[in-house]
Amino acid sequence: MPKPKLHVSHISMGARCGEQLRRFLAGERIPPGIAAIVGTANHKADEQDMTAKLKGEPLTELGASNELVATVTNSLWGEGVFLSEDERQTPEPKLRGLAVERAVRLNTVRRNVLVPQINPKAVARKCVLEVEGFEYDLAGEIDLEEQDDSINDLKTKAKAPPKDEADKSIQLTMYTLFKFYIDKVMPPKVKLNVLVDSQLKTPGKVNTHALTLSSTRSPEELEAMLLRVANFMECLKKGVFMPTNPDNWWCSRRFCGYAPTCPYVRGIKTFGWAGDQKAVD
Ligand code: SF4
Repeated sequence: MPKPKLHVSHISMGARCGEQLRRFLAGERIPPGIAAIVGTANHKADEQDMTAKLKGEPLTELGASNELVATVTNSLWGEGVFLSEDERQTPEPKLRGLAVERAVRLNTVRRNVLVPQINPKAVARKCVLEVEGFEYDLAGEIDLEEQDDSINDLKTKAKAPPKDEADKSIQLTMYTLFKFYIDKVMPPKVKLNVLVDSQLKTPGKVNTHALTLSSTRSPEELEAMLLRVANFMECLKKGVFMPTNPDNWWCSRRFCGYAPTCPYVRGIKTFGWAGDQKAVD
């Protein structure tokens, strides 16, 4: 009988806040925020471009690529978007238009700066890793592998990330685990390709640019990650889901869709025992 799958996104969410993960696994899905929608739209366009490069086909025109990004942003928005209280002060059609403009700005930089630099070997590769003794298989999707087996992950952000973000990324370590155990290859580099669109002090002015944060992973770091995953599985089995430290920036109404009803930050508004949660396939 196949084991249930534990996705990299579950491990990342659980590391961020156990309570978020508990509610997510219980089926309480919060629609994506604007940043996530803009990021997904850029991922779609990147997947299209990198697949074309992989096949040796010409890229679509920039205009067509931007059109794709605008369409995906609008379509995802139509399926439901989580807006913070601040964002709800702006009329929704205006917010939606701003999101489309932002997605297109980021896509233009992605096309002009990142795409010419990257020679893909595999795009959006789905991986499943069976680890002996683990109750779950590990699953995830590597955005992109380069010809030299380096792993790339694309991010979109509203401000430049800390310089050590690639050094500490759980996602990049998990993707390295997949490469190491499935392909028997240690990637020479792990990279975050980051598209940044930040507001400047002058109203209406933005700075949109791309940067790449590069790092490596060692066998010791992979061992540490396996230990972390084993610990995570044990917590899942026992129904232990620790809420995050309320000092963390993401533990707020602005960044956490569960905050308005979270018993750990506002008193008990909703409550459910976690002991019967199952991993999601
Ligand atoms: S409000 Fe804070 S503790 Fe509650 S689910 Fe969100 S991040 Fe976790």
